[in-house]
Amino acid sequence: MTSVLLIAERDVLGEISQSTLQLISAANELDDPQLTVAIAGSAPESATSLAIGKLVTLPAISDDEVGIYDQITADVAALVTSTNPDIVILSKSDFGTVVGSRVAFRLDLALASDCIAISNSGGMVNVTRPVYGGSALAEFEFASSPAVVTLRPGAYEPNVDAGSPSIEAFESVVAVNKAASVTGTVAQASEGVRLEDASFVISGGRGLGGAEPFSVLADLANALGGAVGASRAACDAGWIDHSHQVGLTGKSVSPDVYMAVGISGASQHMAGCSSSRVIVAINKDGDSNIFKEARFGVVGDWEKVLPSFLATVRELRA
Ligand SMILES: Cc1cc2nc3c(=O)[nH]c(=O)nc-3n(C[C@H](O)[C@H](O)[C@H](O)COP(=O)(O)OP(=O)(O)OC[C@H]3O[C@@H](n4cnc5c(N)ncnc54)[C@H](O)[C@@H]3O)c2cc1C
Repeated sequence: MTSVLLIAERDVLGEISQSTLQLISAANELDDPQLTVAIAGSAPESATSLAIGKLVTLPAISDDEVGIYDQITADVAALVTSTNPDIVILSKSDFGTVVGSRVAFRLDLALASDCIAISNSGGMVNVTRPVYGGSALAEFEFASSPAVVTLRPGAYEPNVDAGSPSIEAFESVVAVNKAASVTGTVAQASEGVRLEDASFVISGGRGLGGAEPFSVLADLANALGGAVGASRAACDAGWIDHSHQVGLTGKSVSPDVYMAVGISGASQHMAGCSSSRVIVAINKDGDSNIFKEARFGVVGDWEKVLPSFLATVRELRA
């Protein structure tokens, strides 16, 4: 039996995120798994109907905790200490990256981040993760437990089975010694599907030439129920917020289709998207590295290619 603790996240509607459903699929591939999902705040229906053994509710994350996650880190650490699971899995999101690494540090546990596969046999947990900017895959074996793993969104299909887990509230009594505090927040309107959860991602790079063309990318993303990403060059230029950045120092995504528009395909960018199922590139330079990574590509000016592509998509979906 393998006891697995999954730390859930919510989508923009407060429901269980697609990336959390993917964690369930990953955990189900382990040897005789016994799944517990922990969620902060009161559980939505999408959580109470998960196909897992147990659902644990933790105190809600207050607005002044977002980004720092002191309290939820303490709560998850206390839950891990009291339940002693074999494996703790989080999504490799902003939340999972911060909380996973802090919990591992606090409890002196081994951590493997940004993994794309997890398995176990003979009591050993093995993970696979991209290294060298995504140009190679490395396999690691944990020598101790509990092992903490963050899993790249999109690495597994979401588990859509229904169940009726037992529900328990976990009240942590840990007093949090805040090392930092949030002094102000800037609300950023977020619509549609999260970048990490999207099955279609269209990203723009320096080749777009400015902020305005990102609205064309957003139109296509909306038409296909996807999300907009960007290269660091586009974010650094101020054309789009850094929360959209894909890559080594941005987000990791593994959508069904990743469309790169005006992006050269530098290794640091590919580190965040190379595990996408299909990569499509639009670039006017046929020698650009992105064409080595793409399954489909158009050598051409995005201004000529993208609007007609968008028109065709709209026509087909009408
Ligand atoms: C430590 C470190 C971390 C980094 N982390 C990241 C990261 O997380 N994410 C990331 O993206 N980068 C990252 N970078 C930067 C990375 O190395 C590249 O500089 C960056 O990805 C380049 O962005 P780009 O492809 O948009 O721009 P460029 O490399 O300038 O490419 C622009 C492309 O647009 C094409 N183009 C131009 N005009 C058109 C047109 N009209 N139509 C079609 N195509 C056109 C060009 O042919 C070119 O291929 C990092 C770098 C370092 C050193």
